[in-house]
Amino acid sequence: MKKNSILILLLTFITLSIYGQRKIVKLPNLPGYITLKCDFHIHTVFSDANVWPTVRIDEAVRDGLDALAFTDHLEYTPHKNYVPVDFNAAWKIGETYAKERNLILVHGAEITRKMPPGHFNALFISDASLILQDSVWDSFEAAIKQGAFLQWNHPGWKAQQPDGIPRMYDIHEKLIKKGWLHGVEFFNSNEYYPLVFKFAKDNNLTLTGNSDVHGVISEIYKEPDYNNRPMTLVFAKERTSDALKEAMFAGRTMVYFQDKLVGKEEYAKPFIYQCISVGKPYYENEKNLYFEVTNNSDVPFYLVNGIPDAPASITLAANSVTRIVINKKVAAPLVYDVKNVIIGENEVLKIELKY
Ligand code: ZN
Repeated sequence: MKKNSILILLLTFITLSIYGQRKIVKLPNLPGYITLKCDFHIHTVFSDANVWPTVRIDEAVRDGLDALAFTDHLEYTPHKNYVPVDFNAAWKIGETYAKERNLILVHGAEITRKMPPGHFNALFISDASLILQDSVWDSFEAAIKQGAFLQWNHPGWKAQQPDGIPRMYDIHEKLIKKGWLHGVEFFNSNEYYPLVFKFAKDNNLTLTGNSDVHGVISEIYKEPDYNNRPMTLVFAKERTSDALKEAMFAGRTMVYFQDKLVGKEEYAKPFIYQCISVGKPYYENEKNLYFEVTNNSDVPFYLVNGIPDAPASITLAANSVTRIVINKKVAAPLVYDVKNVIIGENEVLKIELKY
């Protein structure tokens, strides 16, 4: 091989290793807010996972995330004979590494107890070691003292609720009464719990969706079954840790996984109208009108339950323009249920296509 081509090869290698690539996850902003793509439930070698903290950050950058939280178990450290127990280690190792890669790293820990109360992530903390206490209530109190956002993890996890149905126990009610519980996981890895939506609505909790990953993320979430890991979409005023925290406490989130979007209607409705745009009719004949709907996002939308004389269902494929032909007899607003946009325990979003 000529010297020149060896040099070019070397340069290519160096360029790739310096500039790690970030996937573009195409999801729009909401008016006035930036959509931050986040995973608030991640394990490392410092509890029971097999991955070093900096590799978790590389994974998150590659997946196009804006923010990541390390949430190692406080009460469960099975690698302790080989890896020293240090509940702040992942944070300390990752803090600068994340900054260099333009990723917001959230300091967290997982309070890990039997049900009730189950598992909780304390997010935006300053010292995880202070949160490990004999009594779980003391752990909650220590987290709250640090200004933590407390998230109830996987409330319907079958290892703790064999029927998969989440339940509120006295201790959860007590947390809510004190204003100490702030969020609840709707999606945890590939499980989700519809009833969590009711908990969130009744108690003004923030909905989240996270990977809870223990292995290598690209081995778990890969095509063709998965095009992304579960993520929490946070509508923040700017792309900073403080703005992220403010938005989390204010409940401005949705959850995105596979082709499902989950969130309160006040966010889901403007979000879908930022994803799609409906064109004016471009052609008509005696019987029909023709127009197009552009979906500028990575999420396909499955419209069902069309009104009489309109198409019964329409799929707005991701990153595509869909042609729609409407019988001129259709006079009423063109309203559909969006099957994969969930806005309640048993409720999906309704939208209108205004052409
Ligand atoms: Zn966990």
